[in-house]
Amino acid sequence: MTLTKYRRKRNFKTTSEPFGKARSAGAKAIFVIQKHAASHLHYDFRLEYNGVLLSWAVPKGPSLNPKDKRLAVQVEDHPLEYAGFEGTIPAGEYGGGSVIVWDNGTWKGEDPDVGLAQGKLRIELSGHKLRGAWALVRMGGATGGKNWLLIKENDKFASTQDITEAAPESVLSGKKIEEIGDEASRSQRSKRNKKNAKKISAAS
Ligand code: MN
Repeated sequence: MTLTKYRRKRNFKTTSEPFGKARSAGAKAIFVIQKHAASHLHYDFRLEYNGVLLSWAVPKGPSLNPKDKRLAVQVEDHPLEYAGFEGTIPAGEYGGGSVIVWDNGTWKGEDPDVGLAQGKLRIELSGHKLRGAWALVRMGGATGGKNWLLIKENDKFASTQDITEAAPESVLSGKKIEEIGDEASRSQRSKRNKKNAKKISAAS
């Protein structure tokens, strides 16, 4: 598990996403779910493990209903600092679009090395929106590919409430993803305008 693939996809001179460095041991394992308005809206589900964030892209987002099986496509590991990233990835960059921290907290559960190899990882989440027992189940089992299913297990935190609708906002800023996007495009526009104004005054 390294960040080689993550870094190769990004130009850190252009994007404000973190480059990634190791952090001290002993801290509780965190999880984060980032709502990401890229070309297709999705939720990035990330679990801290071995100094990185194991990551899955969940197109429909998590569901509190144990009857729902939400597709979760495993993507490259991300650096730990990515868990605090909220902002806008510039258009034209990998994953261009706005990101909010939709939920975060800590997790515990089975050893991911075993779970990842066997194709079933049972975990317990302590977040603001997501709590209790969850399972990640790989389609095709141990020999399957990148496609997993994220499923809420039946416990007192299971519900038929649509949590992505009921609680769309960031747990960091309280903002909805549309508000982040607007703010970012406004500030980009104002930067561009300032640059253009300089060019114009330099040319005249
Ligand atoms: Mn994403």
